[in-house]
Amino acid sequence: MQGYDPFQLGEAVKKDVTKVVGAVEMRKYYRFRGGRWYGGIATGDVVGCNLRCKFCWSWRFTHQTNKGEFYSTAEVFEKLYEIAEGNGYTYVRLSGGEPTLSFNHLLELLRLFDETNHIFILETNGLLIGREKSYAKALANHRVVVRVSFKGATKEEFYMLTGARPEFYEYQFKALENLLEEGFKPGEDVYPAIMLSFSTDESYAQFKKRLREIHPRLVESIDEEYVILYPHVIEILKRNRLNPRIAYTPDNIPQYMI
Ligand code: SF4
Repeated sequence: MQGYDPFQLGEAVKKDVTKVVGAVEMRKYYRFRGGRWYGGIATGDVVGCNLRCKFCWSWRFTHQTNKGEFYSTAEVFEKLYEIAEGNGYTYVRLSGGEPTLSFNHLLELLRLFDETNHIFILETNGLLIGREKSYAKALANHRVVVRVSFKGATKEEFYMLTGARPEFYEYQFKALENLLEEGFKPGEDVYPAIMLSFSTDESYAQFKKRLREIHPRLVESIDEEYVILYPHVIEILKRNRLNPRIAYTPDNIPQYMI
């Protein structure tokens, strides 16, 4: 079994999607938007990721880094704040790629949102939080909800879905452990999500068992994700010869996923 090292990949990607100007870490973004997810949320979509998921809905901006523009934290804050205030949204988030690749940029953004009434949702694959306990500790100083999105229910599925070496799957669990140790509360300000389109009942049962061993409340707060068949997602699935067991069309997304 082969596969890449996501931490090595992440280091290379970070060089393309971050730059430090003065004391400010800037990050590449490809879009800022409002949307109906989480009942209404302002989203900044970052460029670049340390995984190469074969179902990734934003693969054109995560599997390559040549698009997008650099923004400072102050500029990102202003854009997200305006979208959230203008639409009456409680929530703001970074999505698209992996926000923790530019960790200083992320922390500064969290600091700015701490001064507002908005709640920041950090969508992450958790790998870096799993490796760096200090990341979990730093996040704990802010008002943030962390959603750790698992890529498959076992390390074999992780390898099948991401192409990364299977042993790196453990870091996703480790992220939850680190966050809990730093005081995050399962089901309140940290919870697991999982891509289940390619899993079996057996593998999902194994996944739940692993979560239960970390904390029983994690199992009760799982956010189940399924592939949404947008044209560009169909394109990447075909290219990777991946057939989802369960998937939804864009006009038929279950209410609980929104
Ligand atoms: S971790 Fe998320 S953003 Fe990164 S490649 Fe996978 S699905 Fe895309």
